[in-house]
Amino acid sequence: MSAKGNILVTAGPTHEPIDPVRYLANRSSGKLGICLAQAARDAGWEVTLLLGPTAICPPENVHTLRFETAEQLAGLLEEHFSRCDVLIMAAAVADFRPTRASSQKLPRTAQKLVLELEPTPDLVARCAASKRPGQRIIGFVLGERAGLESQAPEKLHRKGLDAVVANPPETMGADEIEATVYTAAGETIRPESAPDGRLSKADFARWLINWLSRPPP
Ligand code: C5P
Repeated sequence: MSAKGNILVTAGPTHEPIDPVRYLANRSSGKLGICLAQAARDAGWEVTLLLGPTAICPPENVHTLRFETAEQLAGLLEEHFSRCDVLIMAAAVADFRPTRASSQKLPRTAQKLVLELEPTPDLVARCAASKRPGQRIIGFVLGERAGLESQAPEKLHRKGLDAVVANPPETMGADEIEATVYTAAGETIRPESAPDGRLSKADFARWLINWLSRPPP
């Protein structure tokens, strides 16, 4: 084991199949999670990256496992969560998936097609429910600026997390982030170099990993 401990990072979207050639997805690029894995590796953590379907290459020298669906990510978390000291849940897990994926390509017709969706399980909340003492979990909250201040602490407590990184939807796929961190201790923090919260995802990742790496008070 490395000196800093084991960190598990999830990144990217999920693809939820409709049929063998179509899926439901979201605009997550996986960029921030990949920057976080890189920053953690450079800071001396043992890193496992669970990476969804994205065109961006995973960082070198990081143990990377791929997933497509929320169900596959759930399986990987079940296998790897108990061994980590910190989980950073940056993956944009689909909130809904088709109730049944067709085993054959759906034909194009002139009729309307109605898809039935079911909610996916809340994977980070599930990890938090089985957390052992000393383990820390950081989640993400994406929402309109105006509501984030109340939404972020509410999600933090409801999901049982140690901190959440709140940022507006424009940061999806962008190179910059506009982030505020809310902690379970009631702190609201931003990188000192970015009082408005705006900075590159690489710089934010280095700052967050540095913040996580500091010894407990
Ligand atoms: O509830 P909401 O989707 O806003 O919460 C975002 C956080 O919850 C992220 O950290 C995301 O990775 C996680 N999440 C999850 N399982 C879901 C949906 C979101 O773990 N089904």
